[in-house]
Amino acid sequence: MENLSERINSLSVSATISMAKKAREYKDKGVDVINLSLGEPDFKTPEHICTAAKEAIDSQNYFGYPPVAGYPELRTAIADKLQKENGLPWKSDNVVVSTGAKQSIANVMLSLVNPGDEVIIFNPYWVTYSEIAKLAGGVPIFVKGKLENDYKPTSEQVEEMISSKTKLAIFSSPCNPTGSVYTHEEYGQLADLFSNYPEIMVVADEIYEHIIFEGEHKSIGSYKGMEENTITVNGFSKAFAMTGWRIGYIGAPLWVSRACEKMQGQFTSGPNTIAQRAALHAISSDLGPTKEMAKEYEHRRNIIYDRIAEIPGVKNYKPKGAFYFFPDFSYYFGRSFQGKVINNASDLCMYLLEHGHVSAVTGEAFGEPNNIRLSYAASEEELIEAINRIKNSLQNLT
Ligand code: PLP
Repeated sequence: MENLSERINSLSVSATISMAKKAREYKDKGVDVINLSLGEPDFKTPEHICTAAKEAIDSQNYFGYPPVAGYPELRTAIADKLQKENGLPWKSDNVVVSTGAKQSIANVMLSLVNPGDEVIIFNPYWVTYSEIAKLAGGVPIFVKGKLENDYKPTSEQVEEMISSKTKLAIFSSPCNPTGSVYTHEEYGQLADLFSNYPEIMVVADEIYEHIIFEGEHKSIGSYKGMEENTITVNGFSKAFAMTGWRIGYIGAPLWVSRACEKMQGQFTSGPNTIAQRAALHAISSDLGPTKEMAKEYEHRRNIIYDRIAEIPGVKNYKPKGAFYFFPDFSYYFGRSFQGKVINNASDLCMYLLEHGHVSAVTGEAFGEPNNIRLSYAASEEELIEAINRIKNSLQNLT
């Protein structure tokens, strides 16, 4: 007899993963689908990182359980990076290495959030934030960014949502799904706000920090008054094209890093040994390959931005980082194809998959039901073809 917990029944299936699964089903049937639904670099992990992993296997020194919070040399290398590149004060004890940034976020939420605590989520948001907050018994409170401000919530909007129950605030910059990046000035305003609320921990997800095309990446934890109330989350998936290796981390005050280590000790133990050795090599090498990838993403962004602008009725803005467009397609809601009405972004994504053979993710999953997310982690030819297909499919709606 099936008898699942309320906890698992209340959890949504990740929309990005389920859309990718649908696209794969179409592909398996022989349909030539262009997949723009995944948040995954289309590059291979750089060769020198793979070599470090092979050397780790051959040395036969990395077959046993690793320390729960990661190898000391990797934690030290991450702490050095956080100091030098991000202006954060952390030492190796402040760092906990996990099986991906996703686990790092889960560790933080499960360690800090009590049932009924409010978690402020900058909206649009990465699908996982609200689900993990709920899993921890927290109440997601969404602060909605507007198109006029590239969907970035302002510090005034955030302040309106703060209550005596607020425990955490979480956002990503560069942002998934919007590709928006907070400026130095905007960070200053957020830091001024949050430094007045030392009881609220700010979780800054910086996983796209190296994929940035305009301006400079900043860490909110480096702003005055934010040192002790920021948890910086990062990982190797996007910057080093290492999604499958599953290595992420936090840099945080000791009371948080110790709690996350304790949590991880019961859930997964330390992350994969060979992947940690590869990560150590990645973080200790120069960022040449990362910069090349970022340059290529920027090139694609420019090309695709101009083509999206040619689609009638679509409202867009130019993303400054990550590898996503998040345009508003609501102009097409209420139109139909062969009697079937497109009521919302989810219907539109299904229509584009069935008739245009392009997979994209509905904005509903990211808290913005007028939009769809198009990943440009695909080749230039595929992207151009995908936008043509979208444009043609939309023309068939009446
Ligand atoms: N944070 C954001 C904003 C993401 O977009 C993703 C992946 O798509 C992650 C975290 C997860 O990273 P990881 O692969 O390290 O678990």
